[in-house]
Amino acid sequence: MWNLDNSYARLNPGLFAHQLPTPVAEPHWVLRNPALADILGLDPATLHSDELLAICAGNALPPGSEPLAQAYAGHQFGNFTILGDGRAVLLGEQLTPDGQRIDLQLKGSGPTPFSRRGDGRAGLGPMLREFIISEALHGLGIPATRSLAVVATGEPVYRQQVEPGAVLLRTAASHLRVGTFEYAHHQGGVERVRELADYCINRHYPDCAQADNPYLALLRAVIQRQAELIANWMQVGFIHGVMNTDNMSLCGESIDFGPCAFMDEYASNTVFSSIDQHGRYAYANQPAIGQWNLARFAETLLPLLAEDQKNAISLAQQALGDYVDNYQKAWLQGMGCKLGLADATESDRRLIDDWLKLLEQEKADFTNSFRALSGDPASLAQLPTQPLFQQPAFTQWQQRWQARLNDQHGDQTTAVALMQAHNPQVIARNHQVEHALQAAVQFGELQPCEQLLSHLRQPYACSPGMADYCRPPEPSERVLQTFCGT
Ligand code: AMP
Ligand code: MG
Ligand code: MG
Repeated sequence: MWNLDNSYARLNPGLFAHQLPTPVAEPHWVLRNPALADILGLDPATLHSDELLAICAGNALPPGSEPLAQAYAGHQFGNFTILGDGRAVLLGEQLTPDGQRIDLQLKGSGPTPFSRRGDGRAGLGPMLREFIISEALHGLGIPATRSLAVVATGEPVYRQQVEPGAVLLRTAASHLRVGTFEYAHHQGGVERVRELADYCINRHYPDCAQADNPYLALLRAVIQRQAELIANWMQVGFIHGVMNTDNMSLCGESIDFGPCAFMDEYASNTVFSSIDQHGRYAYANQPAIGQWNLARFAETLLPLLAEDQKNAISLAQQALGDYVDNYQKAWLQGMGCKLGLADATESDRRLIDDWLKLLEQEKADFTNSFRALSGDPASLAQLPTQPLFQQPAFTQWQQRWQARLNDQHGDQTTAVALMQAHNPQVIARNHQVEHALQAAVQFGELQPCEQLLSHLRQPYACSPGMADYCRPPEPSERVLQTFCGT
């Protein structure tokens, strides 16, 4: 059942600090994730045991755990800072029945040497938010860290107001970040980076070990995965909100959900995060920020790429240049599928861009407008009432689109099936998330969270009761700002 290894603890001790979680007063269950427990190889009864409750709260350790806080650095809004797990502890790596190695990390488990002025704790609202958003991304088929459980601590945390405290047990393919490499580079130099890069290759990109230049292969592989990840975000209207280099995972999972949100109406400059005053991490900036972050990663690898610095820089620049192609390819392919085109090419870009322009002009709902195009009976019924579909400009666009669809192999049914598989009905809409969190935090009511989660877990399907979750917010329900999960 528990099958923990601690490979990270065997790396250079400069990369972490041994750290026990700090016990809490009165732990009790808030949310649990049976599907994830199953993947981890935990038996279902465990999910209700006092033993697991104590572990999730940081009051006990699973057998074989060597808990530690990871050191890392990061560029936060462009500025280099030394960071580290200030309120998190890595319990170890669960070796699952199907052969995966999955990090188990407690978040909100008390202070560490990296806490700076923070209390090491987390509020219930933000931890539930992370649980919901990570499950939403996973349900959409987008790589993300996941959440096994949220436990309330019975202790208050002091933020803008007093909130109930909570601990999240989250899982990740690993917690290696761009910032981990920045830290190794800054504190340990080239040999520390080499050790970390070897670890990363071994854990996430084993094929790179066989390449002529394994570190260049690693850089290229990380770039490819990030390009795909960010293209995925763009296709569902997801805005991460804090794309600092410490919040970019090397294995290509979405990680560290703070003020992230899904767009309702389409506007390419959308920003939700209260701390993103200049829109650095706005929706449309995400692909370019991805490249900027990857350049910070590439810099840490330079001495490993080639002996001659000029050569190394040129190799890194080529790889970073390929990011744009990788991203554009992934974006075209994905957006094409959303419009029923199995093999979108450069020549389809205009068609896609013009559709997005229409959405933006009409302030149309991103998710529902795409879904409506797919001819889904439920959404089609709503078509006539949406102003977008009444526009002459839409009719003109629709003719071009239809002509393009007629041109491709396969019939209309195939195109509709493709669209329905790529256009979710349900996303984690801000107003729904806030409503569910409020019920949980203020009234201890978990039903709204559970119900929202049940729809987010099958976002492409039609399920009873989902209509309310497809509804964009009324003006009075709109949530315009989201806050950091501290
Ligand atoms: P985040 O914005 O969650 O990515 O966190 C940025 C940095 O601040 C990380 O090093 C966190 O560990 C640290 N941090 C955030 N909240 C707290 C807290 N309440 N106590 C200590 N450190 C924190
Ligand atoms: Mg140490
Ligand atoms: Mg972070």
